[in-house]
Amino acid sequence: MADRKVVIIGSGPAGLTAALYTARANLSPLLIEGLDAGGQLMLTTMVDNWPGYRDGIMGPDLMTEMRAQTERFGTEILTGNVMSVDLSRRPFTLAMGDGRKITAESLIIATGASARWLDIGSDRKLSGHGVSTCATCDGYFFRGKPIAVVGGGDSAMEEAVYLSRFASKVTVIHRRDTLRASKIMQDKALANPKIDFIWDSEIADINDVQKGEVTGIVVRNLKTGQLRDVALDGVFIAIGHTPNTSLFKGQVGLDTNGYIVTHDGTRTNIPGVFAAGDVQDHIYRQAVTAAGSGCMAAIDAERYLEGIPDEMHQPSTAAQL
Ligand code: NAP
Repeated sequence: MADRKVVIIGSGPAGLTAALYTARANLSPLLIEGLDAGGQLMLTTMVDNWPGYRDGIMGPDLMTEMRAQTERFGTEILTGNVMSVDLSRRPFTLAMGDGRKITAESLIIATGASARWLDIGSDRKLSGHGVSTCATCDGYFFRGKPIAVVGGGDSAMEEAVYLSRFASKVTVIHRRDTLRASKIMQDKALANPKIDFIWDSEIADINDVQKGEVTGIVVRNLKTGQLRDVALDGVFIAIGHTPNTSLFKGQVGLDTNGYIVTHDGTRTNIPGVFAAGDVQDHIYRQAVTAAGSGCMAAIDAERYLEGIPDEMHQPSTAAQL
């Protein structure tokens, strides 16, 4: 007999929505939140694309509301680190940092993905104050202003093109002289008259931490070592995301970038283990899509626990360990 019918790991929009739905289905879920509780929305300021808030809502406020809503229906929230999981037998076992072991009949993984940062210090200090890792979330604040995008992949090109709708000018800073992005995305960005490129360069620093806002960047040419100042109002970092899947490696099927492979909704390669949100989605990566997949995972888990055969369930052949 397991301690819990459903355990959810992760407290972003996917995890909290999964908790809301499983709580309302009388499954008394346990949600485990880590130290970065609330996920990426905790790093955002105004969220204007969450339906229902016509004047927008601050990211941390939205997460507080979601958390309170799911607690209202009886979700138990445990703060702590899951150190390891054993998904090889049922019930599944989770070992916590304090030595406690929790067993579960079903598991919903909603551990998200973390945007990569530059590791220059000032980028994190100015996060939400001119530095962002989400163009869709924050682009609108930079209407008529010059901004920079860091990176040379598809995300950077997509963000640069998207941001060119608002910004007066977008400067892409890339550490090499060729882009990693797909040809079609490269062509779009290179042909855009509002986008220019600084090649072979990195951001050495972002000003002005003292003022608490972005006033410009210091760019270092990696070939010559030369530094130069560029005045601008915003910096978007698009150097990739890292899915938070190290706990599940070797047990749950991951793709080559480390994202959990799901099939037929939110099912993983292990019956009874479901994945929702950015941990299994490197394409949409929106709060609202994460919440939607959290809802799907809850319904999938509920059906699994009731033993409802799923006609659509096909074992994935794409999943690799
Ligand atoms: P990515 O392909 O890994 O590209 C990351 C970029 O950031 C690279 O250009 C890399 O430079 C640069 N970079 C990494 N670390 C850096 C650092 N510390 N400082 C400066 N630059 C750094 O990541 P992504 O663009 O997020 O894409 C991830 C996956 O999602 C890819 O498979 C991509 O095709 C896919 N995606 C698809 C779409 C689409 O189809 N519409 C949109 C977005 C993403 P180097 O090139 O020198 O390594």
